[in-house]
Amino acid sequence: MFNKIIRNRRAVQAIIGALILAAYMYFQVSIWVIVLIGVVSGAIFGKVFCRWMCPLGFIMELTMGKDPSSKNLQLYNYHKLGCPIAWISGFLNRFSLFKIKRDSSTCTDCGICDSNCYIASLNKDYSIYKEKKENPSTHYSCSKCLVCVDKCPSNSLKYRV
Ligand code: SF4
Ligand code: SF4
Repeated sequence: MFNKIIRNRRAVQAIIGALILAAYMYFQVSIWVIVLIGVVSGAIFGKVFCRWMCPLGFIMELTMGKDPSSKNLQLYNYHKLGCPIAWISGFLNRFSLFKIKRDSSTCTDCGICDSNCYIASLNKDYSIYKEKKENPSTHYSCSKCLVCVDKCPSNSLKYRV
């Protein structure tokens, strides 16, 4: 069920993004309330706003296409520096309540998670499963796409408290 939601992230983002846009445009909800939503969701879930909630992020991703090997898409995913919600919630990745946790007793060290992660595949100092490397899920740029969780063949990655 949860993997299904991950695979349909774009649909979730479209719905939440449309609600946020409507709140801003038609119900005069202040931009500061939206920033607050980004910060509170960041403290609980990490940097989820960009990829799960943001209407601008939805449009940006549309323009980048879907090819995961596209350098433009990788750089967009990696940097995404243009927004205060991204700055704050990216910083909160280290402290958020929910984190991506690996069960080392079932992990087979296959490396599929790293090859699907835009941080670990761009920066060799990072790895989801190699313990001596930095964990990409607490990196500023991890916007909780949760592809690593979805792709893990042994179900060893969980996004949880
Ligand atoms: S994809 Fe899963 S099993 Fe493979 S290395 Fe990553 S956590 Fe371990
Ligand atoms: S959620 Fe997983 S795959 Fe996505 S950026 Fe974060 S660590 Fe990488």
